[in-house]
Amino acid sequence: MSEQVVRQAVVLAGGMGMRLRPFTEKEPKPMYPVGEKPFIGHLMGQIKAFGIENVLLLLGYKANSIMDYLGDGKNFGLHISYDVTPVEFQTGDRIFHAKDKLEPFFMLMYCDNYCPINFDKLREDFFSHNALAQVSVYENRDHYTRSNIRTGEDGKVLIYDKRRTAADLEGVDIGYAMIRRELLGQLPRDGGSFEEAAYSFAAAQGRMFATITKHRYYSIGSWERMELTRKFFENRPTVFLDRDGTVNVKAPKACYIENSGQFVWLEGAKEAVRLLKENGFRVLMVTNQPGIARGNLTGDTLEAIHKKMQRDLEQIGAEIDKIYYCPHDWEEGCECRKPKPGMLYQAQKDYHLDLTKCIMIGDDERDMAAGRAAGCKTCQVTEQRNLLQIVKEIVKGKQE
Ligand SMILES: [Mg+2]
Repeated sequence: MSEQVVRQAVVLAGGMGMRLRPFTEKEPKPMYPVGEKPFIGHLMGQIKAFGIENVLLLLGYKANSIMDYLGDGKNFGLHISYDVTPVEFQTGDRIFHAKDKLEPFFMLMYCDNYCPINFDKLREDFFSHNALAQVSVYENRDHYTRSNIRTGEDGKVLIYDKRRTAADLEGVDIGYAMIRRELLGQLPRDGGSFEEAAYSFAAAQGRMFATITKHRYYSIGSWERMELTRKFFENRPTVFLDRDGTVNVKAPKACYIENSGQFVWLEGAKEAVRLLKENGFRVLMVTNQPGIARGNLTGDTLEAIHKKMQRDLEQIGAEIDKIYYCPHDWEEGCECRKPKPGMLYQAQKDYHLDLTKCIMIGDDERDMAAGRAAGCKTCQVTEQRNLLQIVKEIVKGKQE
């Protein structure tokens, strides 16, 4: 059952985008340019990458502008069709109007949110829960926005509160929802707000589930966060580097690099960092340093070691943009110690990264696991393949 193919994405793109005036006085919100194309173009690229072939756009306000840009979808490798309804329609009105064009299950998206979700996970969760609605939810632990969802065990949604006033809400739905068409026939009313009617109903039935993402979403819903959205779509290539065993000689088992004198560069590692920088990469280090919790070295000593490392790099015109380290011991249960991806998600928020486009390089299986958990590409340093060889391939791949 989990092998079922999702054939259709349905995008709600009919609203007036009042919060994006004056732009939306002339153009509909999805046409707002970010990077080298309108925002809706980025969403089409993502749908294509998910492997979904058909897109149905539910339009209202200034529909022609969007239709002129997307056409039949050929330029995006997609089949795109449209359902146009009056501007004043709400999301539920638009979805019910298009009822006959909907597949038995489909992915419902908002036209103003972008998040590099793990689509395979969303799809698997949807089928394994036999959900009426499986929504993507940003965990929102950083209080990036106001939450509207409370989840329980297994991601079951206990409360969906569009007004965001219930107690103990944690997480916010960001679109990218797998929906079963049969849900529409079970609702007490058609029209109005689809999320309010459908999600409240499915949650009450115990058949609404959340697939949680720690990756921040980016929006063109209002001007407030537009600068962050712009930064996100700059997509400057970024590499995460482990430290010990990747750039410098590892300490013997159960020992730590405890002073600058013990920090010895591996062959080619400095040059690898320089090559990355010369080719426009951002280089971020993510390193476990449990020696701090165990009393083998202090935070100040670690800083001194890193200063020496940066000085060495500076001499050849290179640097590491930022160093993240986990000072905790194994038993502390922190979120940052690799193989957990906490440091990568912290960097995601600091630099507005698209983690699915970042590369994690390390020598340990835990580096690979952290990279995979965050959705990054991964490369492992081995005795046969050192950092410089890996970086040469990455740089070559970028130039091609
Ligand atoms: Mg290592």
